[in-house]
Amino acid sequence: MSLSIFELFKIGIGPSSSHTVGPMVASNRFLMELDTQDLTGKVGAVKVKLYGSLALTGKGHATDTAVLLGLSGEVPDGVDPDDVVGILEGIRGSKTLNLAGKHRIPFVEAEHLQFNMDDTLPKHPNGMRFIAYDETGDILLSQAYYSVGGGFVMSEEEAGHRDDKPGQNIQVKYPFNSADELMAVGKRAGLSIAEIVLENENAWREDDEVRDGLRMLWDAMDSCIRRGCEMDGVLPGGLKVKRRASKLYAELKEKPEAALKDQLMILDWVNLFALAVNEENAAGGRVVTAPTNGAAGVIPAVVAYYDRFVPGSNEDGIFTMLATAAAIGMLYKENASISAAEMGCQGEVGVACSMAAGGLTAAMGGTNEQIENAAEIGMEHNLGLTCDPIGGLVQIPCIERNTMGAVKAINAARLALRGDGTHFVSLDKVIETMRQTGVDMQDKYKETSKGGLAVNVVEC
Ligand code: SF4
Repeated sequence: MSLSIFELFKIGIGPSSSHTVGPMVASNRFLMELDTQDLTGKVGAVKVKLYGSLALTGKGHATDTAVLLGLSGEVPDGVDPDDVVGILEGIRGSKTLNLAGKHRIPFVEAEHLQFNMDDTLPKHPNGMRFIAYDETGDILLSQAYYSVGGGFVMSEEEAGHRDDKPGQNIQVKYPFNSADELMAVGKRAGLSIAEIVLENENAWREDDEVRDGLRMLWDAMDSCIRRGCEMDGVLPGGLKVKRRASKLYAELKEKPEAALKDQLMILDWVNLFALAVNEENAAGGRVVTAPTNGAAGVIPAVVAYYDRFVPGSNEDGIFTMLATAAAIGMLYKENASISAAEMGCQGEVGVACSMAAGGLTAAMGGTNEQIENAAEIGMEHNLGLTCDPIGGLVQIPCIERNTMGAVKAINAARLALRGDGTHFVSLDKVIETMRQTGVDMQDKYKETSKGGLAVNVVEC
């Protein structure tokens, strides 16, 4: 397996990695294809057709916003969240779109962006097709893409080779395809899991760049927490969900002495960190996919817990956490999926919990065996977790669910650190169990908003 840490952790915008970041990336890829074939200036119109889960929950997950931004030439890690409303108003008001920022075409949303709720494309539930026409209405270019989770995008052709290993042409120093292989590499080379992943990262970039990249990731996560703690009001989308983080932050700040009486107030802080990130995500703010946007609060909350509450915490510990968590995320991406449209929420918050549990165990000095144990515990108790967002919005149950994932990850790390690493169910076995459970799960529980809370709670 040859995935980079920075493919798994990506800076983007909310609310969804598969439904916002992925479609934006797909739009960017379509623009690039037009450009490569020297077609951009010849385009008279573009139609985008969304299928499956993208159509069913795309409105709530801002897929429309993502496509409009992406076709305008905006990229997930570059667009300023504060500019988004203005760009959308410009397109909707003028009924035109500045394709790739350089060629204006008519764009009437109801006509040019279609939500095909009853159809799916063959290779993944998150399919979309982009069609460019010339001035006479003839097709210049038609391309299908699949958003396969965590902001990863595949073309029709690439999706036909999904069994190929990601980045298979990259030669890393310590290849591994399973947790067992990862553990064996660690034993053979005398390296921790973080050291293995950091050595492998040199296939893409130098040590200094890796450290700078990790620092940038943590800065983005930490800024997201800070911003989320300051913002109040109601989240967009129509459910009128009140933001809770700023109120909780004010309460916790005002009464530091209360923590002396109630030791579990640390959990309030962990909850705060996760709420802050996921409220920012729901509001379309800048977040890091970790490994997805819906689950973007779990890992930052656990890193922030380590940073602020674990004695002796330091920057190296944070880097160890992120690298270890990335190794665990790679195993899920490689051997199962991190797409809720395929796995339900076990593939988002469950995976994030598993990654965070392993990462925290590593930062707290755990052995590779204890890390593997923690990651396994983090998933074992999320198996079967469904995805049923109310109103198709990444708000309920998503925001609160991240607090639960973070707290569970901390407990998983503590359980593992109290043991010697020996345990009954291996990480590989639990990943395969998650995959099988996801395959067996009915579609209504896989990011379609056709089951669970999404149908049992009346929207106001
Ligand atoms: S329920 Fe879970 S998987 Fe579904 S949108 Fe919310 S966070 Fe993502």
